[in-house]
Amino acid sequence: MEIINLKLKVTNCFLIKCETKYILIDTGYEYEWELFCKKLKDVSVSINEISHIILTHHHDDHCGLLNNLLEANKDIRVVMSHLAKDLLLKGENDITHGGGLVNKRISLLFSLERLISNGKGVVKRTLKFNPYKTRENDILVKGETQLKDIGVNLQGKIIETPGHSIDSISIMFEDGNSFVGDAAANFLQFAGTKYCVVFICDMDEYYNSWRKIISNHAKEIFPAHGRPFNVKKLKANIGKNKRENMVMNLYSERLER
Ligand SMILES: [Zn+2]
Repeated sequence: MEIINLKLKVTNCFLIKCETKYILIDTGYEYEWELFCKKLKDVSVSINEISHIILTHHHDDHCGLLNNLLEANKDIRVVMSHLAKDLLLKGENDITHGGGLVNKRISLLFSLERLISNGKGVVKRTLKFNPYKTRENDILVKGETQLKDIGVNLQGKIIETPGHSIDSISIMFEDGNSFVGDAAANFLQFAGTKYCVVFICDMDEYYNSWRKIISNHAKEIFPAHGRPFNVKKLKANIGKNKRENMVMNLYSERLER
C-alpha cells in the first residue's frame, strides 16, 4: 500500500493510492490551504487525482480545507460519519456532548501557550471553521462499512471509533494499517498523554474504541497527530488516563474567546 503523509502544522493528512487515484484522509485547518497545496505539489499529486476524502471527524484541524478542496475538484466524494453532517454545518468543534483535556499538565501547557501566543500574531485557535454543508454526492456511513461499498477498491473497512468526538471513525485496512484520526495520538507524550489525544468527549468510550481497533487486527496505527506507532502501544496503555483526572472546563473557555 502506498501511503503518503502530507504533514501540515499539527495534522497528518494521508494520501492512499487506489488504482489511478488517491484517497485523502483528513484535511487541515482552513488557514493551511497554501501549505496543503505546496505539500501536494511536493509529492507530485494533483487535486484532480483525489477521488475520495475520508473525514475521520468534524474538528477544525481535520475539516478546515473541505470547502477549498471541493471548489478545486467538485467530483471528490466526501465520506464521513452520519453524525458529522450536523456538526460540520455548525462550524465549530462540538462540546455539547461533554469532554475535557486528558490531565492537568495538558491544561497547564495550553494556558502557557495562550499566554505566550497572546498578541504575537500567532494564529489563535478559535475551534471554529467555515461550516460545511454536505452535498448529495457525499457518503454518510453508519456502523461498519466496507471500502468496496463506497467505491474504494481496496481491502478494508470503516468502523465507528467514538470517544474523542461522537462522530469519530477509523479506516482499518486488511493489512493492519489503521488510520484512526484522533481516536489515538502520539504527541505531547511528556505531558502524560499516553497515546490519547488531548481532548476527549468520553474517556470510557475512547478506550472502548481502542478495544475495537485492537480486535479488528490493527498492526500499525497512523494517528492524525504524531508519528505512526505499533498497536502494542495501545494494548499497553489502555485505561492509563483516568476520567477523574480530566480537566473539564478549559476547552469551553477557549471556545468563547
Ligand atoms: Zn479532533
